[in-house]
Amino acid sequence: FAQLRATDPEIAGVVLGELDRLRGGLQLIASENLTSPAVLAALGSTLTNKYAEGYPGRRYYGGCAEVDRAEEIGIARAKELFGAEHANLQPHSGASANLAAYAALVQPGDTVLAMDLPHGGHLTHGSRVNFSGKWFHPVGYPVRPDTELIDYDEVRDLARTHRPKLIICGATAYPRLIDFARFREIADEVGAYLMVDAAHFIGLVAGRAIPSPVPYADVVCATTHKVLRGPRGGMILCRESLAQRIDKAVFPFTQGGPLMHAVAAKAVALREAAQPEFQTYARQVVSNAQALAAGLADEGMRPVSGGTDTHLALMDLRELGVTGTEAERRCDAASITLNKNAIPYDPQPPMVASGIRVGTPSVTTQGMREGELRQVATLIARAVRTDPEAPGGADQLTRLGAEVAELVAAFPAYPRG
Ligand code: PLP
Repeated sequence: FAQLRATDPEIAGVVLGELDRLRGGLQLIASENLTSPAVLAALGSTLTNKYAEGYPGRRYYGGCAEVDRAEEIGIARAKELFGAEHANLQPHSGASANLAAYAALVQPGDTVLAMDLPHGGHLTHGSRVNFSGKWFHPVGYPVRPDTELIDYDEVRDLARTHRPKLIICGATAYPRLIDFARFREIADEVGAYLMVDAAHFIGLVAGRAIPSPVPYADVVCATTHKVLRGPRGGMILCRESLAQRIDKAVFPFTQGGPLMHAVAAKAVALREAAQPEFQTYARQVVSNAQALAAGLADEGMRPVSGGTDTHLALMDLRELGVTGTEAERRCDAASITLNKNAIPYDPQPPMVASGIRVGTPSVTTQGMREGELRQVATLIARAVRTDPEAPGGADQLTRLGAEVAELVAAFPAYPRG
């Protein structure tokens, strides 16, 4: 870091500023986490220099012996940890992994059945502004208006009507367990591939806190930087029979040279995720999310679907008369980082939204437990109720920020020094 500071004080300042932000506030974005120093070391290594198009033992460049070892180790760890027949660690991101899965499984124009975006699906599940909606024919399944849960009978009816070539389950803002066996049955009935987009929850699967989709899916796509706590990136797990198609879809179809420093960092994260402590952490992530959702419910926010089985909760704020955007802004002013989120059947446009999404991977990594999450719920509620435009409101949010800093000081994001 001394070298960065000497060469580029401006960017060094950004890095330090971000570290201060992480240390001084509450990080409740459900898709974020705090990687370990070991993962950061691999990411910041000279492996970033290496071109390695291809796969271990079959590269288009010389000098790949060392990076081959990193990728082989990472692949073996992923297969072992998830009980998968094949793993590809090269996707640059979750969206890249999904693009490769589409490329391997379907043709442009084919019908793809996935969760509706406003109900928790991801952009890559059929949005018009994304390749998935432009090049494919997306059909969305909603959640039920009464339970806010996936209605598997409706998914089956939609599958029978539209005969998709690919069915996707997995979402960005669905707090409940997904019945993978049921999706498998539906996919088999209509002759579709089943892709599970486990971007959000693969870390909970690694930590044995929720059931695994691997036995049921043809392809599991994931990110490595969420609950899994690895570097920013993607990963694909699949059956051996699809291995070649997946590998070719990643390279050379959708990507060029892999980011070998990221591949090595994924290997490190997979090793960390295989330790017994990771299972304790993963279970705690879920208990913490449940404590947070319950605490927010006591403060007048409604947990969508009644609660959570995972690392995130989606809270409906309409009873409080505050929009998601406004809540996000108020929390931000009190050093609480979370995001606005549409709730199912949201009357507000997505940029306003009636809800917030909160997640517990980062605070759990910092060592917080249910007691602290109850406190966090109170802090969020006080921030959400404070109008910065009202007399004294802005000062109140600043004072709240100081209380937040005091709480997180006991659970430092990264140790000083
Ligand atoms: N799939 C799901 C379900 C996601 O939630 C996300 C990101 O949050 C992605 C894919 C895309 O991941 P990335 O942002 O790494 O491209």
